[in-house]
Amino acid sequence: MSNPHACFRPWALLPLLITAFLLIPSPRAAAQATINGTTYISLDTVAGQLGMSSRWIKSGEEAELKSQWTTMRFLVHKRWFFLNGERIYLGMPVASNRGQAMIAQRDYDTTIRPLLTPTQFEPVPKLYRIVIDPGHGGKDPGAQNTSRGVNEKTLTLDVAQRLKRKLEAVGYKVILTRDSDKYVSLGARPALANQVNADLFISLHFNAVDDPRVSGVETYAMTPPYLPSTSGSTLTASARKSYPGNKNDPWNLLAAYYLQTSMVRNLGATDRGLKRARFAVLKDLNCPGVLIEGGFLSNPAEAERLKTSAEREKLANSLLEGILLYQKKLNILRGKG
Ligand SMILES: [Zn+2]
Repeated sequence: MSNPHACFRPWALLPLLITAFLLIPSPRAAAQATINGTTYISLDTVAGQLGMSSRWIKSGEEAELKSQWTTMRFLVHKRWFFLNGERIYLGMPVASNRGQAMIAQRDYDTTIRPLLTPTQFEPVPKLYRIVIDPGHGGKDPGAQNTSRGVNEKTLTLDVAQRLKRKLEAVGYKVILTRDSDKYVSLGARPALANQVNADLFISLHFNAVDDPRVSGVETYAMTPPYLPSTSGSTLTASARKSYPGNKNDPWNLLAAYYLQTSMVRNLGATDRGLKRARFAVLKDLNCPGVLIEGGFLSNPAEAERLKTSAEREKLANSLLEGILLYQKKLNILRGKG
């Protein structure tokens, strides 16, 4: 009987051991991680998928993804990033994990991908019938600055009527949710958009807060499912479901992006960012929709500016430009660019 150990050669196992070692993912190079119960993806992985370069600007604090036309900057622990200088809010904070900058997988899927690779989303909506929703009205004045003699409901109607004329002049069909100083319930506004088969819904508002120093413009898109809205940081019960308005998540975001960037560029206003909220006027929409906050009536300088028709004309023009840029993007995606 031969000795079974006679031909045991430990070095024969070496290739197997090397292979096994290579298959164990290095913790530093993890593409994914679970942080506080949320799936995160490394920015290196994001960069790889988008054909961008990735680096820390300041190790553990600030990371950058870059390509020829696009720069994204991420600050660890912040719930926003900058896309070519524009502030875009995320649902979850940027994280640093084992030496890598990471973002929530859901934020990648619902914010980064629609903005940077919209070709991955279908069907591309058409854009002809636009419903403009002047916020408040009638018994509901909205935000007010009584000492400056301005209220929100008057400004939203004025800007809506200006924007309507401009859009009609370039061939769009425009419907207003109100064309006079009358009260319209929140639910009736998206209901009208759905009833007329709108292709885009734009709700116009102005802000007011206690601190008179706060100023600037912001645009809201519907919060994607299973992510907190910008104003909160936890997943409430309402966050754990999908609404009709979520069917158009990529287009909600694209429309909001072009409107916000156009306002910031043309008005010289503070960029308060592209934010997320499950607003009553957005969540039941069957078409893409956004909510614009066109300035702070509680800020004396901004209130005075908005009292002038020149400023409201400028705001309407910048919204028109944003819509035309969104249209141009849709045309390109549809192959008609
Ligand atoms: Zn309002």
